[in-house]
Amino acid sequence: MAVLMPVAAAVFFAVWHSFCDALAWRIYEAFYSPRRKQVADKYRFVLGGSSRCEACSAPVSIRGLVPVVGFFLVKGRCERCTRPISWRFPVFEALAAVYGLTLGLKELAPAEFVLATIVYALIWVVIATDYRVLLIPTEAILGLLITGLVGLLLIRYPQWYRFESIDLGLDLSVAFVWYALFHLLRIASGYKMGLADVRLVLALGFLLGHPLALYLPGFAAMLAIGFYLLRRYSVLIYAPSETQIPFGVFLGAGYLLLSLLRDYR
Ligand SMILES: [Zn+2]
Repeated sequence: MAVLMPVAAAVFFAVWHSFCDALAWRIYEAFYSPRRKQVADKYRFVLGGSSRCEACSAPVSIRGLVPVVGFFLVKGRCERCTRPISWRFPVFEALAAVYGLTLGLKELAPAEFVLATIVYALIWVVIATDYRVLLIPTEAILGLLITGLVGLLLIRYPQWYRFESIDLGLDLSVAFVWYALFHLLRIASGYKMGLADVRLVLALGFLLGHPLALYLPGFAAMLAIGFYLLRRYSVLIYAPSETQIPFGVFLGAGYLLLSLLRDYR
């Protein structure tokens, strides 16, 4: 039993990641890509349909859909047009499995696990869209703000209305202090930072709580610096812009890593 739950969570997160990535790709195609005007019924396109090859849009076969292993079963190529499939699919599915495994080992309450699953989907949409087009869908940020407040008021502090514990106050303070500082940073940077990043830091602050939320922006900045240093030495790494940094990508990734350190109790 002690082994079963983490393994089940690992497999679940690998499958869930695969779904979230397809969702993020369809959101990009329907709303942000140069081809967006050709997608007539956007919501049906985003929510329905099967996974397809990015090059020739042939449907992916059942064995190709198996997380991580599917990539090797189809030998890393589309079965129709034989174009190579990106390594990011098996790599990120494997990372998602490690994420699920770690959450499984922490023995989260069912409500916390469901919340973590929803948050993962929203954050992956933020990361994928910000990385592709330097934009963060407002709906994803709104979703994160709502899940953040639901997590605080219904799951973590269900008796918040008694005002007996200082912890909720600390969680809110840390989130709002970063929110205010990011507003200032946005002004100081000459509005190079988007309003979406400012809102994102508030939502992630609600979700992460103190003390981890204190470290989130600094940790995200370190990830961003690391990424751009790596990129300087590798032409293989894509960056959407040479001058603008998709900070939402690093805030999202930083959140996912720090959330593994959280004490869920
Ligand atoms: Zn193809």
